[in-house]
Amino acid sequence: MTHPSTLKYDNLQIRIEGQAPETLHVWFDGEIHENFKSQLIALPSAHSYVFNLSGLRSINSLGIREWSHFLLSLTQKSHVTLEECSVVFIDQANIVPQIIANSKVISFFAPYYCPQCNIELNCKLSIANHRKKLSERRAPQIIHSCGAELQFDALEESYFFNIDKLVGEK
Ligand SMILES: [Zn+2]
Repeated sequence: MTHPSTLKYDNLQIRIEGQAPETLHVWFDGEIHENFKSQLIALPSAHSYVFNLSGLRSINSLGIREWSHFLLSLTQKSHVTLEECSVVFIDQANIVPQIIANSKVISFFAPYYCPQCNIELNCKLSIANHRKKLSERRAPQIIHSCGAELQFDALEESYFFNIDKLVGEK
């Protein structure tokens, strides 16, 4: 079966690309709230999945519970990679690490601020490129396009609290 295809729910859109049973690339855009029912998420079965969470705008406690069940059961039979996890998702992962289940995070967004341009922006951090800095719970240095060094715009020890689970090294 060839994709792309799109599954639409109230406040969540799931776009699937790829050819099952090979790797499927899946984008989650919207919100994961109480109406996220894991048994209703009809993903074609595949050996591995790459979930892109850059469009995940909001996730609440009931959504977290369903999402955790969904991901845990999926990771029991397939390999799941999470890429471009949104700030909202990382904030929750710091409180409820179960939302990562047995998946592997390869990149995520983190909040920065440019003192020269006076703007807030979320920068994508790749685990592979920043493993050492991240495992020390320190924000990697990023230079803005204007030439100024960006300031990290959260508490490093909070935002990278569960980073051990993300970088995959104990
Ligand atoms: Zn700037």
